[in-house]
Amino acid sequence: MNPELEKLIALQELDLKIRALEEEIATVPMKRAELERQFETSAAEYLEKKSRLETSRRQHRQLEVDLQDAQLRLEKYKNDLMRVRNQTEYAAALREIDMAKKLVSALETQILELLETIETLEREVQEQTPEIEAKRQQVDARLAEYATAVERLTEELNRMRQQREHLAQTIRPDLLNRYMRLVELRDGLALAEVRDGSCTACYMTIRPQVYADVRKGEEILACDHCSRILYYRGAPAESSGSAA
Ligand SMILES: [Zn+2]
Repeated sequence: MNPELEKLIALQELDLKIRALEEEIATVPMKRAELERQFETSAAEYLEKKSRLETSRRQHRQLEVDLQDAQLRLEKYKNDLMRVRNQTEYAAALREIDMAKKLVSALETQILELLETIETLEREVQEQTPEIEAKRQQVDARLAEYATAVERLTEELNRMRQQREHLAQTIRPDLLNRYMRLVELRDGLALAEVRDGSCTACYMTIRPQVYADVRKGEEILACDHCSRILYYRGAPAESSGSAA
């Protein structure tokens, strides 16, 4: 076979493998996101409880501060009571004390209720934690597998790109240009195998004379219909692993 044609066939095989690798690598972020999404769905109740626990703890800290304020104010009003000079001031001070006491008591009740909520949430979160952690570990293991796979695929991709680079340098520039143009125009497939008298890319029948010439493999010939460069592999028994 024409050596340039053989090189073009090898180039296309490499380009197809490179494209497949690139596509495979490109699917990984989606797969990772899907895994995370599944985990979040399965852990949604747990995560919601955890976040409610956080909120309750924050509320609790705030209520403790409010309670301290209210208690200080109550003390102050009690001291005021000692210094009243008349009945009106006395009545006013009592009213303040009464209101402050009510506030303290209300805050104490709220704190108790909140502590109960916190306790329940803590217990539930604690109960579910081992299961969720096991799930998380599974997800992390899968993510690590993806990372390893991407690493391996990227190495392979780089190796193939290098091979491709070297091969391309040995191809006649005008042929390489023609190949590249066809790759763009024909969705990555610049060459087509001829089988049973037809172009395997566009399925059109090849003229008998062209078919005979393609079988000889001496010239670079194009399909009349799709312009792809044609080649003939010989007997179907010795298909050397070209993916069409
Ligand atoms: Zn064709």
